[in-house]
Amino acid sequence: MNFKELGLDDQLIESISYMGFEKATPIQEQSIPKILEGKDLIACAQTGTGKTAAFVLPVMQQLLQLKEHKGITTIIIVPTRELAIQIDQQIQGFSYFTPVASIAVYGGGDGDDWQEQKQAILNGVDIIVATPGKFIAHLNMGYMELGNVSHVILDEADRMLDIGFYDDILRIFSYFPKERQTLMFSATMPKKIRDLASQILKSPEEISIAISKPAEGVLQVGYLCYAPMKAKFIKHLINEKPSCKSILIFSSTKREVSEIVRTLKNKEYTVEGISSDLEQSERESVMNSFRAKQTRVLVATDVVSRGIDVKDINLVINYNAPNDAEDYVHRIGRTARADTTGIAVTLIEPDDMYKFLRIERLIEKEVLKLPIPPEIGESPKWDPNASNKGGGFRGGGGGGGRKGGRGGKPNRGSGDRRPNRS
Ligand code: AMP
Repeated sequence: MNFKELGLDDQLIESISYMGFEKATPIQEQSIPKILEGKDLIACAQTGTGKTAAFVLPVMQQLLQLKEHKGITTIIIVPTRELAIQIDQQIQGFSYFTPVASIAVYGGGDGDDWQEQKQAILNGVDIIVATPGKFIAHLNMGYMELGNVSHVILDEADRMLDIGFYDDILRIFSYFPKERQTLMFSATMPKKIRDLASQILKSPEEISIAISKPAEGVLQVGYLCYAPMKAKFIKHLINEKPSCKSILIFSSTKREVSEIVRTLKNKEYTVEGISSDLEQSERESVMNSFRAKQTRVLVATDVVSRGIDVKDINLVINYNAPNDAEDYVHRIGRTARADTTGIAVTLIEPDDMYKFLRIERLIEKEVLKLPIPPEIGESPKWDPNASNKGGGFRGGGGGGGRKGGRGGKPNRGSGDRRPNRS
């Protein structure tokens, strides 16, 4: 379905096409009409499904229909600063051809950030994207006018509860008007999330975007290790499995692909890397050699994973835990195709433990976790909650809160807020 069919205005359609979105994703197709009808919503969807646009677009459309500027109308509460920045950036893109302004409110910055956030709040910025702690800090100062808040969105609600924000969320909600539209997005729906939903949502519509599961034939193992030992450990793993003739290693970045290829290069077998840096003809030549089993080890990024259609890959190694469960299922789906069996190994360093726990929850399977051999090094203990403090998730980093709020919005059409096509 395209976005026009979902009932979105031309102003937004223009920004959407500028962002390079052509068709709506399933979560967008299902949520946008319900949100436009004004219903509360509880949606089960993970990062990567397009869930941000699924709530930002219809809410923005409702804001655009207001006859006058009402000050702060929309609050988006998120667990981490990275997510706050990421959502704010998408809003900047979608609002390019509109007068809607937003600000990301999160901690960890300096006094200037605080002043900038405060000024935007005082100016009555339309949309605030905030982490709970910083939102409460501004609330406590007494200058936040929330009487016109009509839309509240809680994103990654399960992660928020994992961090321990339950009470903070209830406290924040106690400041919002009772008459409002509330939307809750969560990757999983444990009982605690349902309890929370029953307190903050009114007769919500429910949407669930199912995640695909790994094939039964794949033996999944997680090895707990520290980052500096990874290269040595995969060398060991490859040497230990002479019967594995086709091994695929996934890494998150192009730079890491080159590093892994360099480390593994040796006289006994061929190792090649494939990433979007290669020309199409070079990629084909690398793939042909892997298919023909002349290359034993192929190192790839997620970007090219979907194009790797090779039969009989015996071993898939995730050099790092993928950013979301979809990528994980996709990566390990390269082995054990068509009823064969295969092994999928994930190297899990301490910072990636929480990320891996989320993947396990989504595929509804606890993956066997093992230490690396002691001759290679010491293994960390499995402690996923220690790494659930804000880093390590998709799209992090970069930028800061947007300058200004409504009053400080740069001239429209000046070209400095073009939607980001990347
Ligand atoms: P999200 O799940 O909201 O984190 O979105 C994941 C990524 O998908 C973001 O980079 C979005 O810009 C992109 N995206 C969202 N919706 C669409 C769409 N309809 N078409 C193409 N890309 C999209």
